Amino acid sequence: MYDFKLDEVTEWIKSKNAKVVALQMPEGLKVYCQKIIADLEAKTQSTFVVMADPCYGACDISMDFQKFADVLVHFGHSEIPSMHVKDNIMFVEAQIETDYAPLLPKLLPNLKEHIGLVSTVQYLQYLPSLRSWLEGNGRKVYIGRGGGRVKYDGQILGCDISAATSIENDVEQFLYLGTGDFHPLALAIQTKKPVIVMDPIAQEVRELKDLAERVLRQRHGAITRASGAKRYLILVSTKLGQNRTELAFRLKQIAMENGRKADVVLMNDFNPDSLLPFEADAYVSTACPRLAVDDFLRYPKPILTPIEMEISMGLRKWSDYQLDSI
Ligand code: SF4
Repeated sequence: MYDFKLDEVTEWIKSKNAKVVALQMPEGLKVYCQKIIADLEAKTQSTFVVMADPCYGACDISMDFQKFADVLVHFGHSEIPSMHVKDNIMFVEAQIETDYAPLLPKLLPNLKEHIGLVSTVQYLQYLPSLRSWLEGNGRKVYIGRGGGRVKYDGQILGCDISAATSIENDVEQFLYLGTGDFHPLALAIQTKKPVIVMDPIAQEVRELKDLAERVLRQRHGAITRASGAKRYLILVSTKLGQNRTELAFRLKQIAMENGRKADVVLMNDFNPDSLLPFEADAYVSTACPRLAVDDFLRYPKPILTPIEMEISMGLRKWSDYQLDSI
């Protein structure tokens, strides 16, 4: 189902004369890891090690590999160009082979005239054919160019939907080809346009309106619960592509200027237990935007995004609400 491009990986490893090669991949791909190693061992003279800690995105490159290996092959994500990683790291996007054609009859009745097309890197290769089909059915299709965190036109991340916002004034509706709800959720909340999800793995077409409203209610609840906070704990990730230390310092300053206390803590992976020793009425995450939205139930205190912290202190209006982005 996945294209791991092992011939290209083999050539790259040989070109680097790598004796030891580290492999990294997200949880969903780890089951393929040993087959990948067996294949690469047969084709190269290299020794392979696996970076088995959880990995959530291209933002999450562990430079620890340099202590043990000459190069790193990261599967499952495209590089984040603005991270400027060294050339001893190869990104293998692991595109998924799928058939979205059975979904097209369900899609057609839900389509408006001007459509913004977006996807994640695993399905981007299908955007040209989907665009042709939409245009053949009388739709005007727009594919946007994102900022420095995305590599391809039409590509969105959970923390960067700039490819969509670059065309939001041209479109009446977004069509997201891919799995999961977080990426299209950011689209729906930020652009306030209708979003249709075409999910080729679940083989379903769905709208996001109810989910977006439910998440907004949750976020409003967290902000309300944090509004009396006297002390914030500001969370900073040490992951290369999630680190926003400067923002954390600005938030601490804002808290102090508004009569609150705030401490900044750095960590690689945040979890509620590691925060227990610290005094705080609310947490503010400057790490991956998904932390506050997806994991909020795991935390005993309200966990906010930077924008939500400002709303909780009365410095920004709820009507200006946006999901966090990096
Ligand atoms: S910060 Fe979060 S949403 Fe952005 S690339 Fe990393 S894991 Fe994905």
